[in-house]
Amino acid sequence: MTPTAQPRRLTSTIIIALAFSVPAWAKSPLASGSGGAVATISAPASQAALAILNKGGNAVDAAVAAAAALGVTDPFSCGVGGGGFMVIYLARENRVITLDHRETAPAAFQSSAFAPGGKAMDYDTAIASGMAVGVPGTVRGWHDALERYGTMSFKQVLAPAIKVAQDGFRINDNFVALVKENEKKFAMFPATAAQYLKDGKPLPAGTLLRNPDLAKTYRLLAQGGVKAFYSGKLARAIVDTVNQPPVAAGATARAGRMALADLANYEARWRQPVRSSYRGYELVGMPLPSSGGVAIAQALNILEGFDLASMPRAKAEHLYLEAARLAFADRNAYLADPEFVEAPVQGLLSKEYAARRRELIDPTRARHHAEAGDPYPYQQDPSVPLRPAASGKARLLSESAHTTHLAVSDQDGNIVAYTFTIESWGGSGITVPGYGFILNNEMTDFDFSGPHPNVPEAGKRPRSSMSPTIAFRNGKPAFTIGSPGGSTIITTVLQTIVNHIDFGMPMPQALDAPRISERNGLATSIEPGFAGSAQARALEGFGQRWDASVEEIGAANAIVFNPDGTVTAVSEGKRHGVGSALVQKRGH
Ligand code: GLU
Repeated sequence: MTPTAQPRRLTSTIIIALAFSVPAWAKSPLASGSGGAVATISAPASQAALAILNKGGNAVDAAVAAAAALGVTDPFSCGVGGGGFMVIYLARENRVITLDHRETAPAAFQSSAFAPGGKAMDYDTAIASGMAVGVPGTVRGWHDALERYGTMSFKQVLAPAIKVAQDGFRINDNFVALVKENEKKFAMFPATAAQYLKDGKPLPAGTLLRNPDLAKTYRLLAQGGVKAFYSGKLARAIVDTVNQPPVAAGATARAGRMALADLANYEARWRQPVRSSYRGYELVGMPLPSSGGVAIAQALNILEGFDLASMPRAKAEHLYLEAARLAFADRNAYLADPEFVEAPVQGLLSKEYAARRRELIDPTRARHHAEAGDPYPYQQDPSVPLRPAASGKARLLSESAHTTHLAVSDQDGNIVAYTFTIESWGGSGITVPGYGFILNNEMTDFDFSGPHPNVPEAGKRPRSSMSPTIAFRNGKPAFTIGSPGGSTIITTVLQTIVNHIDFGMPMPQALDAPRISERNGLATSIEPGFAGSAQARALEGFGQRWDASVEEIGAANAIVFNPDGTVTAVSEGKRHGVGSALVQKRGH
């Protein structure tokens, strides 16, 4: 269904009726109830979260349980070999805090890592290498979140994932397709090939896949805590694997430069969220080093000056694309790790600056390329004189749905929106032998050559797009949303918010609608089936144009907090297989 065909402002009662029309046993992308809720892309992960909620765990406990299970069932998107961003709402204190556990460049990492001799290297070569691996932050993030805001131990929350890894799970078509896509990369690394390939080809769909090595790793964490990852044998294995990637005969992979001290010194960061307002909602999102919260807030600030709800849908969508383009021009030019770069975040978030950017939009005609603006006069302290030099050219890659996002809430009203990743599908492709997890290639999220705020530097975190978001209305949670998909994460979250708030689509339809992603590139990314649609043709009337290569964009998960006190968990109905939404039964 195209968004234009959506009924307007269905009540939450209808959403609930829809949810209950799905048989209880089916893997369902939609569920409503009155206790805790979870939405992930994986049934075992959602079940892990529900089991923890039912045992009395809170949203933080359940989020870590789901994440650990996702590390087993979606090992090409996420896991302990990577990092992520968690947004936590603490209901009793009515407070939001965010946890940055992004991978970090090792101390010996060099700015020329991906541009030897000054020339940016081939992206695929950069990915499948020890050099691409950042110091993993996931385990530190899980630990810090549990220690400060959880109620359970690693032992308790990892138990469901250990069982999935030990007993196995049936791989689906989506899993097989991802292995197929990565055959060449996985074949380079024997420990990865042994787990995911048979005679160099993917295992067939329906195969029961076990990962005893990962079960062992999780047991080590359950017994030894965070230290078991960042020191000792496992840390040594990570460092050895990065510095001397164990490759198949005839294959070569560039070595990294990670030291035991990089792991021992790794820290997650508690950060204040990015806050913005949009048509009576307060949006709370991820700050730098993710560009997600700032870019989404800026695009919405630009859009707020247009009455999208009252205009023809195509015109409103044209404005959505133009606002995204302008926000991306600034994001691409200014945003990077805040510990290394003084980004003009206040200016970018100011409503006055958004008004100036809005003036650049032609409501009848696509711009095709936007230059970065000048947010510095809108900084609270406009005297900050340093403006970074940036080429403004964005590296736009095929980013479909790498990464994973999960949403959890508990019966006390706490919420966790959590996006975590190993960067590309299958990360660097390098499994730590004997430990069952794939190492990230997050360092390739740096701009390979400068000048640019996001160039590689030792100890720096590459700019991300991950956008776990919580929206409030009248001081109460309204919904939470996030998605995978590289830089398309920003447009997926933005578009879904516009679909929901401006076009009045209930969240399931807002998620389901065809995604169109404008990131100030040459053309807008679209999904299969969109080209030639009435919606596409209407937008072409504004001069919008589409990228020829089409693929699914994102795999979002959301929870809606209905005005009557019920909750509705919403996952994808068709993208990336079908997602899994679950809610607690009354009485838990
Ligand atoms: N590395 C990406 C980011 O941090 C996430 C991976 C992806 O979805 O492509 O934005």
